[in-house]
Amino acid sequence: MTASPTAGDLTPGRPLVFRNGTVLTMDDAHRVEHDADVLVTGDRIAAVGHRLPVPEGTAEIDASGGIVMPGMIDTHRHMWQTAMRGYGADWTLTQYFVWNYLQWGKSFRPEDIYAGNLLSAIEAIDAGVTTSVDWSHNLHTIDHAEAAVDALASVPGRFVLAYGNIQAAPWEWSAAPEFRQFVARRFSGGGTDMLGFQMAFDVPPASPDFPEKAAFEVARELGVPVTTHAGVWKVTTDEGIRLMHEHGFMTERSVYVHSASLSTDSYHRIAATGGSVSLSTESECSAGQGYPPTWKLREHAIPISLSMDTSMWWSADLFSAMRATLSADRAREHMEAHSRDETVTHHKLRAEQVVHWATRGGARALGLDSLTGSLEPGKKADLVLIKNDASPVMFPLLNPYGHVVFQAQRGDVHTVVVNGRVVKHDHALVGADLGRAREAIGRTVDHLRGVLGPRAWEEGMHPEIPEMRVLDNPYTYTYPGE
Ligand SMILES: [Zn+2]
Repeated sequence: MTASPTAGDLTPGRPLVFRNGTVLTMDDAHRVEHDADVLVTGDRIAAVGHRLPVPEGTAEIDASGGIVMPGMIDTHRHMWQTAMRGYGADWTLTQYFVWNYLQWGKSFRPEDIYAGNLLSAIEAIDAGVTTSVDWSHNLHTIDHAEAAVDALASVPGRFVLAYGNIQAAPWEWSAAPEFRQFVARRFSGGGTDMLGFQMAFDVPPASPDFPEKAAFEVARELGVPVTTHAGVWKVTTDEGIRLMHEHGFMTERSVYVHSASLSTDSYHRIAATGGSVSLSTESECSAGQGYPPTWKLREHAIPISLSMDTSMWWSADLFSAMRATLSADRAREHMEAHSRDETVTHHKLRAEQVVHWATRGGARALGLDSLTGSLEPGKKADLVLIKNDASPVMFPLLNPYGHVVFQAQRGDVHTVVVNGRVVKHDHALVGADLGRAREAIGRTVDHLRGVLGPRAWEEGMHPEIPEMRVLDNPYTYTYPGE
């Protein structure tokens, strides 16, 4: 038996082997290896197999009783909003828009964007999410953008800055010389595989002149993908998809977030041009973009990735996304069958498929499939060990995909490796300064609480509850003599 390594044994650059785990490779064949090893050398996966010979001095992690899988990938998260974690738990999308877009979004200073991003980035790697897209749509000055990037760069995860600005029109902010200068300064050549770049903006149906065209042209000129909230009930519609398609802006690298209230015609246009959809199932269920359209996307063979959207409601936890996505698909299938007086006897969507969406699906969406998303020799070492010897939920381990989706949770994430570097080990973060994030967030919350004042702060968190009447019950019991 090997002694468990301490964090000091896990210095970057030292080879590392996970021994005797259940390995979900998520390769093209979805190979599952039992009692298997994964060897990491440098920033790459060197081998997956049984009783692997390893270089002298390799650190060993006992993965027995656990699951080794690729790091998860979140393709859409407004990381700055993590500063207001949980504040909007009872909101609808309308309340979210009013608070962030119309009322208080402008109150976020660069240091507040920094604080939210820092906490969000640390939270992601802690949860085994090794790649996150920061859908950063409150960059109302370049200082805000610098702060967003500085925070991401200070945390050892893989990130993509999706640059956006809800305080100005996309054809305005993308045309500003300082935006071009920022991109050239921080993302020359389109960024790196540790910190990539997208442009983030929406196409609401307001103007038939399609002014967003200019922003798409900037993206094309810079050679960067566009990520857009599409199919958001009454906010972005089929009209936006049609305009994008007719002007030739739909590409394989386009990411359509939600896509929950679109027509068949729009799904055809997305499928034909090879883009992918980022599903935020919990968001779609709670906020009201439309029902999460898993089955429609599968019918159109549209690639899917998963995302958490915003920590104003949810956390960075992709276990939660996988679980919600599988449950929402099945709930719809049952309800539709019941409405026809039928019974579903076999589920179409399987746990294995949603694990694919949380790993390979994300890699494909971001053009990173040759680098991450599966455990295969030669790929970058982004991986997660799910193991918790103190938990009664870790055994028996019979159906590994089912275990990941319905049994495991973020607290079971034992070890996380990003780009060959151990960033979490034995359930504790390695090299991420949570104390610094806590202080920064404290200052931001104090600032925002001061700007809002006590009344707006409370009212924002506790929106009015519509009246609900309890139905008259014909069987109401009355005591004799009353
Ligand atoms: Zn969003």
